[in-house]
Amino acid sequence: MEWLGNNPKSIGIHRVSSSRQKDNTSHGVQGHETDEYCKFNGLCLERVFEIVESAKDSDLRKKYHAAIKWALDNDIRHIIFYMFDREARNLTDNEENEKLVRRDRIVLHYVRERKVLHKWSPDSDFLMRDFHAIQNKQYSRTLSAKVGDSMRRKAEEGWYPANIPPLGYVPQATHNEEGKERRRGKVVGLDPILKNRQTVLREYELRARGLSFEEIRKKIIDEGLCPTRTSLTYHASVVESRIKNPFYRGRFRWEGKEYQGKHELFISKNILDAVDRTLYKRHYALKPVTNDNALGGGWITCALPGCGCSIGYDPKVKKYRNGAEQVFHYHHCTNGRRAHKSMKGMNITSEKLWEQLETALDAISVTADFVKELTDAMNEAQRKTQKATIVEMDNFKAAIEITHKREDELYADYKTGLVTESFYIRQVEQVRQERLRFTDQLKRAQLSISNAGMETAKTILELCTSAKSLWEKRTPLERREFLNEILSNPVLDGPTVRYELKKPFRILSEMKESEKWRTRKGSNL
Ligand SMILES: [Zn+2]
Repeated sequence: MEWLGNNPKSIGIHRVSSSRQKDNTSHGVQGHETDEYCKFNGLCLERVFEIVESAKDSDLRKKYHAAIKWALDNDIRHIIFYMFDREARNLTDNEENEKLVRRDRIVLHYVRERKVLHKWSPDSDFLMRDFHAIQNKQYSRTLSAKVGDSMRRKAEEGWYPANIPPLGYVPQATHNEEGKERRRGKVVGLDPILKNRQTVLREYELRARGLSFEEIRKKIIDEGLCPTRTSLTYHASVVESRIKNPFYRGRFRWEGKEYQGKHELFISKNILDAVDRTLYKRHYALKPVTNDNALGGGWITCALPGCGCSIGYDPKVKKYRNGAEQVFHYHHCTNGRRAHKSMKGMNITSEKLWEQLETALDAISVTADFVKELTDAMNEAQRKTQKATIVEMDNFKAAIEITHKREDELYADYKTGLVTESFYIRQVEQVRQERLRFTDQLKRAQLSISNAGMETAKTILELCTSAKSLWEKRTPLERREFLNEILSNPVLDGPTVRYELKKPFRILSEMKESEKWRTRKGSNL
């Protein structure tokens, strides 16, 4: 095994998806299998990092980076993950590790998949790993989309979906027909603490009389309506945002849209009208994304150093003498930082933008021949892994067989009076535990032979094969959604659109051009 090098030092990184799992078997199983894996491969496990995936992504990544850093500082060569999806849920981490692997600084192991990624691994193996990462990303994306959907539904039903409603209101449980509290589906009710409502009401009354936000703040504190505990954070801006909050007028904003709420109001219409007359703020309506402005609204940003503003959609209608009209779908930098001295010649049409964005399709489009070659290479690598797994499975089967024999022997010893009953019971218990462990591992090895990763790879390759023909059938909005999947950071540089292809599409496009991977695909684990 060329990947072993002369350094067997390893660390394990285990991750479980929530703190609730911390006490259950998840860590145990991962730890146990990692131990076995190391023994089997002659690796020396120096330390295990157990990372509980918390809600906060940044904490999680901090711990993860600390583990990798510790490994690098301590001359560790092998990083052992339990599963592909335990490595990195985001592609940035993925890429950093890949660089280290390519430099032969570290070797990555995936216990469950029986996969090793090292300097001499074929490109298709690296690609496979990206497919996994993308799959995980896709998963968390669908998950958050689902959460978003149910919140939006709630908003449409007229209930503010956030956990904490504005001051004066509290979340309120609903009851079912039998009068039992529903676990889900909280609505918004009036705060039973009267003082909270009085504070808001008083703020509105004072505003209706024409006081400034700062004057209101002072008065509220003087009148003892503001709890001492919050007086330090009770700024004029707090008053202002409350006075302007449509929530107290029966409406609320959610994800850029305004909804009509069903919550009860406690400020009279007279006061509300008087307050509204004191506010002269221009009303900003968010433009919904439509087929016409699909490329506007900041989806593309300006490439000029010191600018970086959104590229906005700004159609111009030209009227001809004969009464005919023509719309020019222009886009240009919104120039919010005044980085451009003049906007002359900065208009670029939708057609010109689309034309350039379509080059991304050419970059990822692959021929059937290429796909065949690539899947062959991946299948070959897969077969080799499976072969190794089968050898391992045979070992487990043999070990299970031994436990059976051992149990028979113990029984014979006990029957002939060679060992005492208590000794026999203890020993049998131990042997059975051992058998259970081996059986479990056998099952897992069997699972790893079936391959979900290949399915993802095939889906992505199919997407690349059909990208061009599908493009023609898509609406501009759907095209933009599709581009979101394959490229990042589109910027407008003068008349030129630049973008980066996301991994693994970038690798795919590079592989398409290069012959190198074809010669390397023969090498393996
Ligand atoms: Zn600009």
